[in-house]
Amino acid sequence: MSAGDDENTLPLKIETALVTAGRDTKAQKGFVNPPVVHGSTVLYPTVDDLRAHRGEFRYGRHGTPTTRALQQALMALEGPQCAGVGIAQSGAAAISTALLSLLKSGDHLLVCDNAYQPTRNFCNGILTRYGVETTYFDPMIGSAIASLFKPSTKAVLIEAPGSQSFEMPDLPAIASAAHAHGAIVIDDNTWATPLFHRSLEQGVDISVQAATKYIGGHSDIMFGTISANARTWPAISEGIRLLGVCAGPDDVFLAIRGLRTLAVRLAQHHRSALEMAHWLAQRPEVARVLYPALESDPGHAIWKRDFTGASGLFSIVLNPVAQTSVDAMLDSLKLFGMGYSWGGFESLIIPFDCTGYRTATKWEPGGPTLRLHIGLENVEDLKADLARGFEVLRAA
Ligand SMILES: *Cc1c(COP(=O)(O)O)cnc(C)c1O
Repeated sequence: MSAGDDENTLPLKIETALVTAGRDTKAQKGFVNPPVVHGSTVLYPTVDDLRAHRGEFRYGRHGTPTTRALQQALMALEGPQCAGVGIAQSGAAAISTALLSLLKSGDHLLVCDNAYQPTRNFCNGILTRYGVETTYFDPMIGSAIASLFKPSTKAVLIEAPGSQSFEMPDLPAIASAAHAHGAIVIDDNTWATPLFHRSLEQGVDISVQAATKYIGGHSDIMFGTISANARTWPAISEGIRLLGVCAGPDDVFLAIRGLRTLAVRLAQHHRSALEMAHWLAQRPEVARVLYPALESDPGHAIWKRDFTGASGLFSIVLNPVAQTSVDAMLDSLKLFGMGYSWGGFESLIIPFDCTGYRTATKWEPGGPTLRLHIGLENVEDLKADLARGFEVLRAA
């Protein structure tokens, strides 16, 4: 037996499983990595086999040796509650596929008010047209969410923490209220990944990730995953099949490659982001840092209880200052790039404003808000870049 063979039955720590899971050395003819299988047609040896759809693989859209390697690795990462992993072409597709697979006309859905805006757009657009009603709730609601359930409530969608404003919902409390009403809990776990937040072990039924972010890790793929427990996997796998959801083999391969280094990358993102967050909290230009890993953050106790690490994404609230000064600061930065998405090796910064889309809560941060992704650069260089930017902010 070689390292990485799936017959390996030793109980493995997560960092080891990330390196070894989904590797079938013999099938890969000795190569460490799985082949990138570009394929639609799979040939059957006999007409009898064809009629019975008998074979390890049946059709490209339903799975290849490349997708199977990724699914096995992700199942090892998610833990024993994971009954299956669906693969989608983007994080947005993973979320819409999960919702379409579970809900039908007449159903009611609860969504946390800090959810990713395109998720809200999907609920307000397509789900409304299909007769599914969405109610948004305060992410800090906790077990009081019980009062929002109707007989028709089928699912609750949570993001922990929200990827702009970083409120940290009490996921176990919300999950137990949801389960008492027979509803399914979906968690967008993109920020923490299953490495830092084992959501399926905390009462979540479906854990969705924009693997575009940390699993890919290099800002070079669009990818989504849907990890489901035994209760929900039959509906999710049917939805994936009927909706025709799949992803291209090169992106699947890059997702596997990203997983192999996820533990070391996330540990560094955590260290660097925490150092940057502490440094920013001391700056006179900064009113508040929104990052649950900071002791001063209102979500810190929940983060400490439910998470084993924090990723590189957080936000800051600046003391009141003219928008033109903030813009001058942003334009002056050299290492922090401006662009959407995050989770790659590079540092990013964007201005954001939740005012326009919040409906259950009011977004009143008290000053201009910026979201930062702390990449893998040296933190002293990153501090110097922001310090220069703050000088521009003050001078403008
Ligand atoms: C980016 C993101 C998504 C969507 O992922 P894509 O791959 O860009 O479609 C969903 N949820 C969160 C929290 C995200 O940050």
